[in-house]
Amino acid sequence: MAFTRATGKHRAPSRMTRRSANIAGIATLATAGVVGTLASPAMAAPSTTTVDTGLTQAIVIGDSIADQVGAQADAQKQAAAKAKAQAEAEAAAKAKAEQRAKEAREAKERAAREAERKRLNTFVAPISDSYVSTGYKTGGSLWSSGSHTGIDFHAGIGTPVHAVGLGTVVEAGNGGAYGNNVVIKMHDGTYTQYGHLSEIQVSVGQSVEPGQQIALSGNTGNTTGPHLHFEARTGPDYGSDIDPIAYLRSHGVTV
Ligand SMILES: [Zn+2]
Repeated sequence: MAFTRATGKHRAPSRMTRRSANIAGIATLATAGVVGTLASPAMAAPSTTTVDTGLTQAIVIGDSIADQVGAQADAQKQAAAKAKAQAEAEAAAKAKAEQRAKEAREAKERAAREAERKRLNTFVAPISDSYVSTGYKTGGSLWSSGSHTGIDFHAGIGTPVHAVGLGTVVEAGNGGAYGNNVVIKMHDGTYTQYGHLSEIQVSVGQSVEPGQQIALSGNTGNTTGPHLHFEARTGPDYGSDIDPIAYLRSHGVTV
């Protein structure tokens, strides 16, 4: 009975024994294997290398991933910083360019205003390098009013005659005693007249710039010799004359 109905007590040690024997067997095999392996370096080398390499690779990959993540984060930070710096540089460059464009525009506007101011205020003598041969209000029988209504500039026939300032031609043709004459309405509303011309080079309605050549001097009309008769007037017609010397001097012309 005792043998056929074995108690757990009996079975357990036997199992333990078998298990131990098995473990011992495995250990023996393992030992034999190790010994065998050690005894055969040709076989051991690949085995060791494989294990080591595997571990090393795992570690390397782990570090590599961490490094890569870190590097990626750094790269992203750097890229963001670079993009920000670039955007700031571009914004600064744009602002600078806009400022330069604004300054250029303002300079251009200033130059245009200055040019216009100069254009409006520039006056010249009607005959260059000449002199007044007969003054204003000089008395004599030569003039129908009894006195000279303008001034005479010494000038031979064919001398260029210039508009004394900015204006518009309102008369260009025969002016009776004035011969061929030109009357210009100046930008300030006064008038200037040029008489005894040999040739008229402008027409009514034409705008003239300060110093622009408008005619050639001559000896037409009621004269005693070639010269330019010049008048300044408050209106377009004869009789509204004002002192031409004072007029020219008030505009900076030396006469
Ligand atoms: Zn005169």
